[in-house]
Amino acid sequence: MAAPKLPRSDREVDLFFRLSRDLLAIADFKGYFQRVNPAWEQALGWTPEELLARPYLDFVHPDDRESTLAEAAKLTTGAVTITFENRYRSKDGSYRWLQWNSTPLTERGVIYADARDITHLKQAEEQLHRYAAEISDLYNLAPCGYHSLDPQGVFLRINDTELKWLGYKREEIVGRKRFPDLLQPDSLKLFEEAFAGFKRRGWVRDLEFELVRKDGTHLPIVINSTAVYNDAGEYVMSRSTVFDNTDRKALERMKDEFISMVGHELRTPLTSMRTALGLLASGRVSNSPEKVQQMLAIALDETDRLTRLVSDMLDLQRLELGRFKLLPQACDAAELVHQAADALQPVAEKAGLRLEISAQSAPLRADPDRIVQVLTNLLVNAVKFSPPGTTVRLSSEQRGAEAVFRVADEGPGIAPELGERIFERFRQGQSEARARGGMGLGLYICRAIVGQHGGRIGVESAPGQGSAFWFTLPVQKEGAS
Ligand code: ADP
Repeated sequence: MAAPKLPRSDREVDLFFRLSRDLLAIADFKGYFQRVNPAWEQALGWTPEELLARPYLDFVHPDDRESTLAEAAKLTTGAVTITFENRYRSKDGSYRWLQWNSTPLTERGVIYADARDITHLKQAEEQLHRYAAEISDLYNLAPCGYHSLDPQGVFLRINDTELKWLGYKREEIVGRKRFPDLLQPDSLKLFEEAFAGFKRRGWVRDLEFELVRKDGTHLPIVINSTAVYNDAGEYVMSRSTVFDNTDRKALERMKDEFISMVGHELRTPLTSMRTALGLLASGRVSNSPEKVQQMLAIALDETDRLTRLVSDMLDLQRLELGRFKLLPQACDAAELVHQAADALQPVAEKAGLRLEISAQSAPLRADPDRIVQVLTNLLVNAVKFSPPGTTVRLSSEQRGAEAVFRVADEGPGIAPELGERIFERFRQGQSEARARGGMGLGLYICRAIVGQHGGRIGVESAPGQGSAFWFTLPVQKEGAS
C-alpha cells in the first residue's frame, strides 16, 4: 500500500506515530480500531490488519471486558481516561498488561488512545505482593511472639503467635492495651524499672517476665528488644521477640527441688556419722567397747547409705545420658537371688525381720551385678517399709520363657492411686516415705535396668496388705549363648 504524499509537517507527525514505542491507536465509538501504529505488532504480534478486523474487545482478557466496556462508554461521553489498565491477548496466546491514556474527540466520534505495556511492572508488583504476604506470614506465624510498643508501652502491633499465647484478639490489644497491663505484679515492677533505660539505651536482652493470659493463667516469657528512633533521635517504638519460657522455668524449679532434696538426703547420714564419730573422738565412750562398737556400726551404716545415694545419682545421670551399659553374661536366677539375700540378710535381721528365700533356677543372659542391684533395691525398700516381726519373701521361678522374681513384704502397701507412678524418678509415695529417706530414684533405676534386659516390672499391692514387687527376665534358650 503506497503511502499518500503528505505535507512535510504531516510527514513528521506520521513518522512520530510510526516510531513511537507506545501503543498508539485511533478507535471509533463502535468498538473498532481505525488505525494502530507498528508498536502494537512488536508488543502483541498482531498485524494492524488483524487488529482492525475485529472489535478490540475480542482481544481483551475476558475478566477485563466489563471494565473496558465501561471505560469506553465513559469516553464516548467526552471524559478522558487516565491510567486505565487491562490485559490484551498476544498472538502467542499470552496476555500483556496495558495502561491506557485516552482522549475522545466526540464531534468526530473517535478516540485517541495511548497504551503502554506495563506487564513487567505488574509482575514486579505481584512479586512484591507475594513477598509482602510471605513476610507477613513470617511475622505472624513465627514460632516466637513479636510485638512493638510505643513510648507509653502501648502495643503498636503484635503477631498472631503472641496473640494466641495470650488468648486475646488483635483489636483488643493494638492501640488499647499497654504491655505492662498484661504483667503479673512482680514483672510489672521489673518492667517499670527497665523500660525507661531501654528507651535510652536502645536494647534489652533476656528479660524474664510473667504474662497473665486473658483466662487468668500465667505464661513465663523471655523478651529481647531493640528500639527504633526517628531522625531527631527520639524513641518511636520497640521491636521485641518473645519466647515461651515455660520449659526453662520448669527445669529451673526441678533443679532447685533436686538440689534441696539431695542436700537433705546427704546431710541426714552425714549428721548421724558426725554424731557417732564425735562421740568416739571425745573419748567419752572409750571405756565401753560395746558403745564404741555401736558408734562404729552407725558410722558404717550411714556410709553405706551415702554410697547408695551417690551410686543411684550416678546411675540416674548415666541413664539420662544414655550411657548406662550392661555387661550381659550367662547366669542363673537362683544364684542372683542368693547373692542379694546374703547381702541383705544382716540388714533384715537388724530390723527384726525374717527373710524367706525360695530360689528356683532359670538360665539367663543378663548383667548379674545389675540384676542383683535391682533385687537389692527391692529388698532395701521391703525392709524399710516392714514392721518388725514380719516376713520378707524373696523368690525366683521359671514360667515359660520368663524368669519371674518377686520381693514381697507385709508392710503398709501402696495406695492404688499411686499405681505405676512410683516407678517414675523422684516419685515418692506416702508422706512418711519422705521421712524414711530416699530420693525416689530406686524404682526408676530398677525399671530402667529390667527394661534394658527386655523384661517387665510391676507391683501388686493394696493398702495394709503388703507389697509384692515382681520383675521378669527372658530365659536363655538352650544352646544359645
Ligand atoms: P525411695 O528411694 O524414695 O524409696 P523408690 O523409687 O525406691 O524411692 O520408691 C518410690 C516410692 O515407692 C517410695 O517412696 C514408697 O512410697 C514406695 N515404695 C517402694 N517400695 C515400697 C514398699 N516395699 N512398700 C511400700 N511402699 C513402697
